[in-house]
Amino acid sequence: KELPADSILENTRRQVEKACFSYVSPKQTAKPELLHVSPEMLENLGLTIEEAKSEAFLRIFTGNVVLPNTKPYAMCYGGHQFGNWAGQLGDGRAINLTEVVHNNKRWALQLKGAGETPYSRTADGLAVLRSSIREYLCSEAMFHLGVPTTRALSLALSGDQVLRDMLYNGNPEYEKGAIVCRVAPSFLRFGNYEIFAARQDIKTLKTLVDYTIKHFFGHLGEPSKKTYLAFFSEVSKRTLDMIINWQRVGFVHGVMNTDNMSILGLTIDYGPYGWLEGFDYGWTPNTTDRQHKRYQYGNQPNVGLWNLYKLANALYPLIEETESLEEILNTYKTDFEVKSLKMMRSKIGLEIEDVFDASLIQELEDNLLLTETDMTIFFRNLSDFNSEKPSEGLKIIKEAFYISEEINEEIQQKWHAWFQRYAERLSQELITSEERKMKMNAVNPKYVLRNYMAQLAIDDANKGDYKLIDELFQLLKKPYNEQPEFEKWFAKRPDWARNKVGCSM
Ligand code: AMP
Ligand code: MG
Ligand code: MG
Repeated sequence: KELPADSILENTRRQVEKACFSYVSPKQTAKPELLHVSPEMLENLGLTIEEAKSEAFLRIFTGNVVLPNTKPYAMCYGGHQFGNWAGQLGDGRAINLTEVVHNNKRWALQLKGAGETPYSRTADGLAVLRSSIREYLCSEAMFHLGVPTTRALSLALSGDQVLRDMLYNGNPEYEKGAIVCRVAPSFLRFGNYEIFAARQDIKTLKTLVDYTIKHFFGHLGEPSKKTYLAFFSEVSKRTLDMIINWQRVGFVHGVMNTDNMSILGLTIDYGPYGWLEGFDYGWTPNTTDRQHKRYQYGNQPNVGLWNLYKLANALYPLIEETESLEEILNTYKTDFEVKSLKMMRSKIGLEIEDVFDASLIQELEDNLLLTETDMTIFFRNLSDFNSEKPSEGLKIIKEAFYISEEINEEIQQKWHAWFQRYAERLSQELITSEERKMKMNAVNPKYVLRNYMAQLAIDDANKGDYKLIDELFQLLKKPYNEQPEFEKWFAKRPDWARNKVGCSM
């Protein structure tokens, strides 16, 4: 109620001026069917498993019934897409149902794929099962990995057929329609602020920024230039922390456009994301970004900064202090160096700090690029390294190599040299090797949602078999634990899945 709403013309596509959101009605669907519910999210919202089994739950979380006394809405935002200002984008296929406060936590509930809104532009407002499974599984997996993220409550079929251009064969095909209910304290993005700055609507910009601070950054105090700067500084810090976490687990977002950057520093909009298999700074899962590779793994921290520049520009009219904003952006750069090194130290089990650590880590990264080396398996197995037997290091991590033949002499030598250096470095450490193993295993996941795993669940689901969705959901709840019953998922990408990734539409 504090934010200006759009006039009452529902759902029709249009440019929405001077408003933060538009009231909309979710689409009625042919035959809704619930496929999965997150018990953790149910609990967060104060709902029970029994309630989740009810007809009411199904109908509400597929948009077929609107909860009494609520007014679903779609948000207006803009954004920079692949480096260019794209004008009004907005929730084209996302509809906010309502907000819930439970255990002093505030949650916005949002349906993705529940039909068109004023912001749907030329698209249909719908989502297919394929992309919905990917978002549902990955957002919950990221939460359990300890990465700031939006969450998912439910995954349902709409019962409708949705027409999509399949990337692989280029022919339009009907796919099963689906709806995910995703959940976050707020879905505000950088683009929500950019749109008002671009339209020079400073009044609405200020209303939105004040609203954001009041509800989500309350500790910063009353609106003032100083508070706005503190706000930008905190968004900048949270963005960096999120991206450092992505780098740690090998997550590549794939579309880091400013409309996909959460103001709360949450991973948002799971589209063409992917997980590193072979460690490779140049890898991107986004097939439309293969040429410029703007959103490749190694570039994510830079893009985070680029996006923060755009946010700084958007907030500028309220702050009007170029130097203070630049100082915050410069801090991002220096913080990145410090935090990134700290994160990499933790991945290789170093507690104390040594001036040569950066070069030790650089040498490791160079080695990881010598031959395709599975990132997850490498770091997980590294915790078994015995610093008294450096010559056995190669044996411990061998499983991570993708080539089937013996690696060549030169590469072996480089690894032996690195393990020697690593062993010497470990001898400075004060913790026992058991403690080190425990700590390393708490930051190096054993199980992540490898691209082929999601694909297997999708292939089954398209045939009407949803068991694998649940299996992966259960597995990914404890990504750092040994789970002998799931050992088969601690494995390299199979050959058939090479270069095969999901996509966003
Ligand atoms: P994305 O690349 O997923 O971040 O989406 C960019 C913009 O396109 C956002 O405004 C989305 O809401 C919109 N969009 C993406 N897919 C659809 C769709 N199927 N129907 C309507 N709008 C969409
Ligand atoms: Mg988006
Ligand atoms: Mg998307």
